[in-house]
Amino acid sequence: MSKEKFATILTCMDGRVQKPGAVFMQEKTNAEYVDTITEPGIVRVLNEAGNTDTHRLSQIRYKLGISLNNHGSTGVGVTAHEHCAGNDVDNETQINQLSSACSVVRELVAEGNFSVPVWGMFITQQTSGLWVAEQKVALE
Ligand SMILES: [Zn+2]
Repeated sequence: MSKEKFATILTCMDGRVQKPGAVFMQEKTNAEYVDTITEPGIVRVLNEAGNTDTHRLSQIRYKLGISLNNHGSTGVGVTAHEHCAGNDVDNETQINQLSSACSVVRELVAEGNFSVPVWGMFITQQTSGLWVAEQKVALE
């Protein structure tokens, strides 16, 4: 296992949300590095996982396993964000998806016999143009 401190984020591929998500995880865990697993609209993918999209779920499980096993990740974040091209639904629906996506991720973490916290965040654009992550779910 690496001596460097890692966290993990499961996030949209959208370039606007990479930095606020990573900053959120670094503030939560003091991790130096944030392993990043991306899918467009990942909360939708995690909600459909096991029903219609088992291939992408198995890829996410594989990648999360590397981050937990090989990097000793100390916490896992899941993001949703407004104006998501990969998940074109309203914010309230996304936040509901975020909540159940965090439960799915919690199960994936538990499958690997890890007990790290899972946080869900919703990322929005402020009037200044800055994208900011706000915590919506905490499974600690
Ligand atoms: Zn997106």
